[in-house]
Amino acid sequence: MEKTLSIIKPDGVGRGLIGEVIKRFEENNITIAAMKMIHMTRAQARGFYAVHKERPFFDSLTDFMISGPIVVMMLTGEDVIVRYRKLMGATNFEEAEEGTIRRDFATDIEKNIVHGSDAPETAEFEINYFFNSFEIVR
Ligand code: ATP
Ligand code: MG
Repeated sequence: MEKTLSIIKPDGVGRGLIGEVIKRFEENNITIAAMKMIHMTRAQARGFYAVHKERPFFDSLTDFMISGPIVVMMLTGEDVIVRYRKLMGATNFEEAEEGTIRRDFATDIEKNIVHGSDAPETAEFEINYFFNSFEIVR
């Protein structure tokens, strides 16, 4: 059983897409093992995206990520990292496959509705960044 971190970004929450995203998890045999809504501080957002700190879009991305509340979830399932990234679609919604979350709802390469971990190591870091062991259901 693999685990990953999902975030419904401020655009997804603001546009009323929490239910839509969760419905896709439930329809695709992906289990929600932890979930909460938070509004990140700037420091929290910059720490989360530290891997991107040299990128030209870092300030804009972290400003966007603190522009409103987000929903963070730990997801579990077989091959859930890759399966969830398939459900999300490519970073750039214009390149995302039909029927993916980003193709269906994203409006911008930055405002792309959802985040998903890209490997087991990043998933571990990202889950621990938001959840302690008492917040994860067994
Ligand atoms: P995420 O990490 O959010 O799941 P991703 O792995 O598909 O997305 P990354 O390359 O990790 O993409 O980029 C992280 C986020 O930074 C993207 O989801 C997007 O919001 C933003 N981003 C990426 N590339 C650009 C860009 N060229 N211009 C503006 N924002 C970008
Ligand atoms: Mg990424």
